[in-house]
Amino acid sequence: MSSAIPLNVGITRSAVSGAADSPKRVLLAEPRGYCAGVDRAVETVEKALEKHGAPIYVRKEIVHNRHVVETLRERGVIFVDETDEVPEGSVVVFSAHGVSPMVHSSAAERSLHTIDATCPLVTKVHQEAKRFARDDFDILLIGHEGHEEVEGTAGEAPDHVQLVDGPDAVDNVTVRDENKVIWLSQTTLSVDETMETVQRLRERFPSLQDPPSDDICYATQNRQTAVKAMAPECDLVIVVGSRNSSNSVRLVEVALGAGARAAYLVDYAREVDPAWLEGVRTIGITSGASVPEILVEGVLELLADHGFGDVQPVTTANETLVFALPRELRAARA
Ligand code: SF4
Repeated sequence: MSSAIPLNVGITRSAVSGAADSPKRVLLAEPRGYCAGVDRAVETVEKALEKHGAPIYVRKEIVHNRHVVETLRERGVIFVDETDEVPEGSVVVFSAHGVSPMVHSSAAERSLHTIDATCPLVTKVHQEAKRFARDDFDILLIGHEGHEEVEGTAGEAPDHVQLVDGPDAVDNVTVRDENKVIWLSQTTLSVDETMETVQRLRERFPSLQDPPSDDICYATQNRQTAVKAMAPECDLVIVVGSRNSSNSVRLVEVALGAGARAAYLVDYAREVDPAWLEGVRTIGITSGASVPEILVEGVLELLADHGFGDVQPVTTANETLVFALPRELRAARA
């Protein structure tokens, strides 16, 4: 069964590049794929496996990518939903999306040896939630209900945080003091939709404070910017990523919003339907922040077999950020 999400919404205008006599080409978004937080989280599990041997337990998917999870599972990682599934005294890694203080406590109660792979940029949002809760603000957390990151952040200050799941949820928000309200956000949202939500919140609460710095992380923003740059020229955009990857799904939406005639999400090259390529001249390719490059290479090879061998990079930023491994594994990286 294909896991492609058919988000082609039937935009009818023709792209300039759609002329039948123009050459077939691929526009390849740069940056794409692994961000610094995902790179660190995956390496954390690999180093933990080397140091402690299998099995290693990981609470939730270490990052939201099928291939990464299946590969680690084959190497001896056991993924669990909660720490009470981990045998007492075992090693457990917390995923890049972060956990609430309750999860830390429950792991401590079971004498688990924890390694925290929470992305430092998620930890930053946790710190903001704690700080503004201490100052007794109402915190409006913009994010997707049920997403692990949102659960972890909200868990830092459950009495102060309210989830706002998009612009339409704004009408339901109530606060104690309109002069002590701040918004924070999940790190992997659509920048444009989040700004729309903030605008609507501000119409209701004119004194609404902004976060001290951007919560939507550099990687999410950079990948959306690159897609926006190439999408207007694309008959089709293929985003490599998993359905449960928030930032990957956002890339499909951003591509369509920026003018791509169709956009699909695939985990693997084998999910690309040849029918999508009919009458198409320019294909944009990108990948979510949890996607290893080997999966993009697979899609490029498949497209080359269909005559799309001309690959042109569309570069909008160069990323150099690298995060240190969790303290207990730093020696392993050296
Ligand atoms: S997408 Fe952003 S917040 Fe999430 S792991 Fe990557 S760098 Fe960290």
